Amino acid sequence: MSAPYASPAKKTAPSAALQAMHKLGLVRDIDLALHLPLRYEDETRITLLRNARDGDTVQIEATVTQCEVQLRPRRMLKVTVDDGTGECVLTFFSFYPSQQKSMAVGAVLRIRGEVKGGFWGRQMLHPAFKAAGGELPQALTPVYPTAAGLPQPYLRRAIASAMQRVQLPETLPPGTPPPVMNYWGENGLQPLMGLREALHFLHHPTPDVALATLEDHSHPAWQRLKAEELLAQQLSQFRAKRERALLKAPVLRVPTPEPGTLTLVEQFLQQLPFGLTGAQQRVCREIAEDMARPLPMHRLLQGDVGSGKTVVAAMSAMVCIAAGWQCALMAPTEILAEQHFGKLVGWLEPILAPLGKKVAWLSGAQKKKERAAMLALVASGEAALVVGTHAVIQQQVEFHNLALAVIDEQHRFGVAQRLALRQKLAHAGLEPHLLMMSATPIPRTLAMSYYADLDVSVIDELPPGRTPIVTKVISDSRKDEVIARIGAQVAAGRQVYWVCPLIEESEALDLSNATATHTDLSEALPGVMVGLLHSRMPTAEKKAVMELFTAGIMGVLVSTTVIEVGVDVPNASLMVIEHAERFGLSQLHQLRGRVGRGAAASACVLLYSVNDNGRLSDTGKERLRAMAETNDGFEIARRDLEIRGPGEFLGARQSGDALLRFADLERDVALLEWARELAPTMLQRYPHLADLHIQRWLGAKSEFLKA
Ligand code: ADP
Ligand code: MG
Repeated sequence: MSAPYASPAKKTAPSAALQAMHKLGLVRDIDLALHLPLRYEDETRITLLRNARDGDTVQIEATVTQCEVQLRPRRMLKVTVDDGTGECVLTFFSFYPSQQKSMAVGAVLRIRGEVKGGFWGRQMLHPAFKAAGGELPQALTPVYPTAAGLPQPYLRRAIASAMQRVQLPETLPPGTPPPVMNYWGENGLQPLMGLREALHFLHHPTPDVALATLEDHSHPAWQRLKAEELLAQQLSQFRAKRERALLKAPVLRVPTPEPGTLTLVEQFLQQLPFGLTGAQQRVCREIAEDMARPLPMHRLLQGDVGSGKTVVAAMSAMVCIAAGWQCALMAPTEILAEQHFGKLVGWLEPILAPLGKKVAWLSGAQKKKERAAMLALVASGEAALVVGTHAVIQQQVEFHNLALAVIDEQHRFGVAQRLALRQKLAHAGLEPHLLMMSATPIPRTLAMSYYADLDVSVIDELPPGRTPIVTKVISDSRKDEVIARIGAQVAAGRQVYWVCPLIEESEALDLSNATATHTDLSEALPGVMVGLLHSRMPTAEKKAVMELFTAGIMGVLVSTTVIEVGVDVPNASLMVIEHAERFGLSQLHQLRGRVGRGAAASACVLLYSVNDNGRLSDTGKERLRAMAETNDGFEIARRDLEIRGPGEFLGARQSGDALLRFADLERDVALLEWARELAPTMLQRYPHLADLHIQRWLGAKSEFLKA
């Protein structure tokens, strides 16, 4: 390799560069070896100036014919070079005297930069240069992702020397079959490239490679890296699951009743106003089986909005209570928790009361005295079920014997909060069972990767008698028609939600907007009770509004997104979302799920408004189209993942977790399947290789994944 181009910037102190490297997670040799180029520069060829076109980034060799400092319009160094086929002017606005000297007239230079063909002939601005001669490199020059204070040449040297030192023992067990890739010929089997070979190639590819296969990560060397990365992720998830299997949890079994009497669970089912759907019965069984085992359940209950997850939570709580233990249910918002509380009291208290047990309520907004009373109920065990917001996991809360924690809308909670809940179990050495519920279905590829450590139950059937929601996308210039439609719905005895968007820059603006809409609708709909709900309202006021709406007295509810999750008023049949283009796809789907909960035909109107240029953003358009095209939560989630990418999609769960750097879940599903199949047997039969592999890829980060 010839000497690298000198860095045009001033030399960075090595310690600063080292610090910047550590910040990027580049600590061990293996971290550096796995830090792969973003792109490459071709320094393997010299281009003749005659052949260099405007905009090309080229390497030339030419002789300096002129070198002078100009002072106007500002101080700059102008160097003219000639390679016998053409001329080019190099311009430097900042330069050292030493650089000026090395570009003296007569010097022969190797120069690399972007050619601009301006009025004054060919130019290069701040090109890299060094003395001509020396062998041309055989391989493409890597350009690495870097950070402030970490110059590319420094990083290149660090990676090259790490590559010399690094140990890369093969971690794939002997005889591991290669992944089946349908684009790899006949039977789709091609042995995976060796890791060292793949890494070496990716750092220094030969110039004959089809650059496109490096750019789109389809080259066999990339396949090996992506397969490795996915395997590391699967291994660490399966390992976390196995470690959890070593923990103990209370065995929750419903005691056999006296002959001729019903169990508590049977009594509960009997007094429900409806029978469970087949899907609800199945998931209840799955949960009950988990809880009857002495290991902590770690289960995600997935079901589209309105599929009836709450009653499954109630059933699970009933099993727990019947076995003599306490259950906690936590929801992300005050309104939702309140609503759960109301519902669960209705369903459970008739059964609990004869036993002298209660349902307790905990919330941040609670009065001190009431809270103290509730805390006492929880501590004594008189409260068999505790419902609330984050308040449930606060430090002062002491449970008598918590055995089951249910988290509704789990994606709203972070890892830290789940951990806090797990630590609430009083009985030393035992972990509570954990049931997480989510209406944001997790697309299959995500479930297989980031959520591989969870068991999943799916409610794939809606309660009977629902009519599908019709979704209309309408310009807000037709607001009047929409308001007329609201009038008709209310006249027919139905209820309507009107959602105003959150204006990110200003909560105040957000509220004034909702307030103005409330005034407008009140005026436009005389004789109809129009309510207003937003997050700044005092709890008591919110509660009063929700009660009027739930009771069917209030015809229209104007709200900010506080109603997004979980609110359940079956008589509501029309949902209007203003500025729908500003909402995320999952959020829109959640909002839409507030209607279509009863037997009446329901509709969702997505009002959009165009920006000053009369346009709608592409992603905004895509989201509205997805909403109009499908009601299926899984399909929505899949498209949402496509639009947003896994980082944002995963939100809180991923705080601290290692996201995939190279693999793309949608495109690399074959590799993911391969890793998923290999991981459990590898942990079982080659634990040493599995450890080595996880260490290689995750190092210190693997601790996070256990939460
Ligand atoms: P989500 O899954 O979105 O949390 P909910 O638990 O709020 O859904 O249920 C939506 C509505 O469906 C509620 O009014 C609930 O009482 C009702 N429901 C749930 N299960 C059934 C069923 N098996 N038959 C009839 N209605 C049901
Ligand atoms: Mg719900």
